[in-house]
Amino acid sequence: MGLEESLPSGYALTTVELLAGWARKSSMFPATFGLACCAIEMMATGGARHDLARWGMEYWRGPRQADLLIVSGRVSQKMAPVLRRVYDQMPNPKWVIAMGVCASSGGMFNNYAVVQGVDHIVPVDVYLPGCPPRPEMLIDAVVELHEQVRREPLGAHREEAVRAAERAASQA
Ligand code: SF4
Repeated sequence: MGLEESLPSGYALTTVELLAGWARKSSMFPATFGLACCAIEMMATGGARHDLARWGMEYWRGPRQADLLIVSGRVSQKMAPVLRRVYDQMPNPKWVIAMGVCASSGGMFNNYAVVQGVDHIVPVDVYLPGCPPRPEMLIDAVVELHEQVRREPLGAHREEAVRAAERAASQA
């Protein structure tokens, strides 16, 4: 049983929640899901000039070691199951940034071949507009997400964990 299950949320645990939130937001490991032009800006964000490492995020990881998924670019219908599989491989708690208008809403690709927003496939925590968003904008989205994570009560992701477990059980 994990910490979130064994400790109910409440006044006495405020400090524990703050500490957990601070630790989580200070040590995020992002996984990239780069699909199109936005991915170039995402890669630039991790480079020396913009230096995402300043926020403790210098390690880009595979999904099984990551807790943040950055979806950058349009998602074709064919890639949708792959996106969901990558998301399901990530351990809880986990968060998602939809980078660019294509990932957020389909953008100018309003057609049958492109998913009209990745929130049809995975839950999204931060939507980042722009075509493409500049690295400074992605950093701003990351800082916004960090603030959300810092304030998030323990167990807020439990519902998603339960759904994932149910899905895994139904597929077994
Ligand atoms: Fe390319 Fe613009 Fe779509 Fe990003 S939002 S994937 S830059 S077309």
